[in-house]
Amino acid sequence: MTSEAWQPIRVCYCHHVGQEVALEAEIVYPADFLPDWPRVLAHRCSHGVDCNLDGRSSCLWAGTNPAIDPFLEL
Ligand code: SF4
Repeated sequence: MTSEAWQPIRVCYCHHVGQEVALEAEIVYPADFLPDWPRVLAHRCSHGVDCNLDGRSSCLWAGTNPAIDPFLEL
């Protein structure tokens, strides 16, 4: 049986929220060894849902401004 988990893969200070946030990856682990596992299913910002709902244009991880990616501005 496989298992899934969201894990932080990068941390940065985001000026939009004034705090450190994490870029997270949803990783699937197999029950047994397979040659091309584990696999990454998706990425998200740890604060993305809150930014999406705060009424301001922020970044691609909130889905409100695809031209801005704070995790690339390291
Ligand atoms: S969703 Fe974007 S703007 Fe909001 S905290 Fe994450 S990186 Fe910053």
